Amino acid sequence: MGGPHHNFLAAAAAWDMTMTQATNTPARPQLPAYTLTVVESFDTEPNMRRVRLRLPTHSAFEYLPGQAIVMMIPTGNGEFGRRDYTIRSMDRQAGTIAVDFLKHGETPGPRWALSARPGDTIEIRGPRGRTVFQPDADWHLFTGDETCIPAIAHILETAPAGARAFVFIEVAGPSGEIALPSAADVQIRWVHRGVQEPGPSELMADAVAGFTLPAGRGQAYIIGETCNVRRQRRDLIARGLTREQILSEGYWRPGRIGGHDHVDD
Ligand SMILES: Cc1cc2nc3c(=O)[nH]c(=O)nc-3n(C[C@H](O)[C@H](O)[C@H](O)COP(=O)(O)OP(=O)(O)OC[C@H]3O[C@@H](n4cnc5c(N)ncnc54)[C@H](O)[C@@H]3O)c2cc1C
Repeated sequence: MGGPHHNFLAAAAAWDMTMTQATNTPARPQLPAYTLTVVESFDTEPNMRRVRLRLPTHSAFEYLPGQAIVMMIPTGNGEFGRRDYTIRSMDRQAGTIAVDFLKHGETPGPRWALSARPGDTIEIRGPRGRTVFQPDADWHLFTGDETCIPAIAHILETAPAGARAFVFIEVAGPSGEIALPSAADVQIRWVHRGVQEPGPSELMADAVAGFTLPAGRGQAYIIGETCNVRRQRRDLIARGLTREQILSEGYWRPGRIGGHDHVDD
């Protein structure tokens, strides 16, 4: 893989290193920083808040669908914390990107999204992340919860006709199901949590266990709550997928504040 795709991934990997290794060695190159300005903020679903943000004029912001930015979100008392959020879309003509925040609780991310007003500014770095579409695969398996809908939706809407995608998304119930337009041939299975709290569970592992792996070379994109991601990755490896065939990342975990978990063992 060459060209811009390769450069993004190299930069994304470099950022990941700076985030995950506490070392005294010289700092690795950081991802580019931008100051974004809020254009508007509105609900796309009762549990999802979209913030549209303007990029600085003339900035050459490039990314691949599925990648994220690291946002410096106010955490109170004038302090800021890093939170990873997916680039849900980009309007190149308007010079804006959209970010969808799951309203999972009274925490800094959704709190900021709900209070964002036109003209507010926020510092970000990015893009980062390796969970991006692999065009050479014969079929694609996506799994995740509500926090992954922005990534999965954006990858699907940019996937080419002829691609075969199998999608499992965990939501609370039928009201969490949304349309996921795509030119690709997509089969979606919504996994309902019901009264269970979001977090570590057997739900997604069981759903994926019931999925017969199609013939040909598959590519899995396993994202969401870290324990659930780890469990699915292990199961898929036990079923014969190679490590390279599984792009996986822990998007959140009970008790973890911001950040991301690499799941690549
Ligand atoms: C690459 C990447 C892309 C992501 N993209 C998105 C995105 O587009 N939209 C989005 O909404 N999220 C996304 N996430 C997840 C998001 O970064 C985390 O949910 C983050 O913790 C949110 O910050 P917060 O301020 O709400 O909560 P924090 O202050 O980080 O955490 C406070 C508490 O809330 C818990 N918590 C965090 N997330 C959840 C959840 N989903 N459900 C229940 N409890 C939770 C934490 O474990 C902790 O106990 C992404 C994560 C990664 C790594």
